[in-house]
Amino acid sequence: AYNFNPGPAALPLEVLQQAQEEFVDYKGIGMSLMEISHRSKEYEQINAETQELMLDLLGLDSGYQVLFLGGGASTQFATIPLNFLKPGKVGSYIITGSFSDKAYQEGKVVGEAVIAASNKAEKWRSLPAQSDIQVDPNSAYVHMTTNNTIEGSQFSYVPDTGNVPLIGDMTSGILSRPIDAKKFAMIYAGAQKNLGPSGVTVAVIRDDMLTEEPKHIPTMLRYTTHASNSSLYNTPPVHSIYMMNLVLKWVKENGGVAAMEQRNMEKSKLIYDVIDTSGGFYEGNIDPDSRSIMNITFRLPSEELEKQFVKESLQQNFIGLAGHRSVGGIRASAYNAVPYAACKALANFMTYFQKRNG
Ligand code: PLP
Repeated sequence: AYNFNPGPAALPLEVLQQAQEEFVDYKGIGMSLMEISHRSKEYEQINAETQELMLDLLGLDSGYQVLFLGGGASTQFATIPLNFLKPGKVGSYIITGSFSDKAYQEGKVVGEAVIAASNKAEKWRSLPAQSDIQVDPNSAYVHMTTNNTIEGSQFSYVPDTGNVPLIGDMTSGILSRPIDAKKFAMIYAGAQKNLGPSGVTVAVIRDDMLTEEPKHIPTMLRYTTHASNSSLYNTPPVHSIYMMNLVLKWVKENGGVAAMEQRNMEKSKLIYDVIDTSGGFYEGNIDPDSRSIMNITFRLPSEELEKQFVKESLQQNFIGLAGHRSVGGIRASAYNAVPYAACKALANFMTYFQKRNG
C-alpha cells in the first residue's frame, strides 16, 4: 500500500521489521520488552538513549529535558497553560489552523488567552509574517504550530517573540526539516506522525521553564514531576517509546534531519508540480510560500470529482488521501517514512486522473 495516512501514519519498513524480530524475545532476555519492568536496566537504557537521540536530532545539547507523556498532544493544550500561566499573565497564541485554535480554546479554559496573530479570516491560506505577530508584553508564553496538519501549511521561519518564551506544537513537522530548536522554550509532538506509533507525546522543555514547581495543579500534570524523575515518575508507554527509539535511529542512519528535509522537499515537489502545471484542475489550498512538505492539500473542480479521485486512488492502493472532514478535498500526508516511490506513483496517478477527467 502507498500509505498517505495523516496519523497514525507510515512507519519505516526497516523499523517495523526490527520490532517484529525483537517482539517476542527482546535481545535474548527470554521475554518481550512489553513484559518487563520499566525500572529494568533494559528499559532504562531505552529511555535514556531515546532522550539523547531526541536532543541530538533537534540540535540541542544540555539545558533541555525530554519527557515522554501520555494523553496525546491535545493534553498539552491544557497542561501548557496549567503549568506556565501565572496570575496576572496571559497566554498568547498564533492561530494558523484548527489545532492551534484548539490550543487557544484550552488556554481560555485555564486562564486568560489572547491572539497574537491569526490567518483564519484568510481561510489559513498564507501564514502570518513576523510583522503580523503582536506579542502582548504581559505574556507567559507564545504558542504556535509549526506545521498545520489539516490545512497543509508550515512556517518558513521561527517567530521572534523577544523575551517571551516560545512554545511550538511540532506534532506533524518534527524532524521533517532542520529547525532552530534553541529558539523554543518548549517543543512538543504527538509521536504518531514522524516519531513512531501513537501512545506517547514528547515534550522538550528548557530548564528555566522548570525552576518552579506548580503546586496548585495535580502532581501528574506538572512538568517538574516528570523532569525530576527522568520521565520515569510513573509507568511510561514502553512500547511506543521503544518504537520511537528505533525511528530516531532510522532518521540518524538515513542522514539525519537535513537529509530528511532534502527527501521531503523532493517528494512534495513531485505532487506540487502536478498541481502547479495542471492548468487549474488541481488547486492547492495553501499559497506556495506557506506550503507544507508534510501535508499536501488540494482541491479538484468539484466535490464529485474529489470523491471519484479518492475512490479510484483506493483501488490503486493509495491509502488516506481524503482531506480532513472539516476541510474536504484531498490531503496527501508524506511524512518522513513515506518513500519517494509512493509520491512518484501518486504524481503519476494524478496526471492520469486529470487526463481522463480534465
Ligand atoms: N497538534 C497537531 C499539529 C496535530 O497534527 C495533532 C494531531 O493530528 C494534534 C495536535 C493532536 O494530537 P493528539 O491526537 O496526539 O492529541
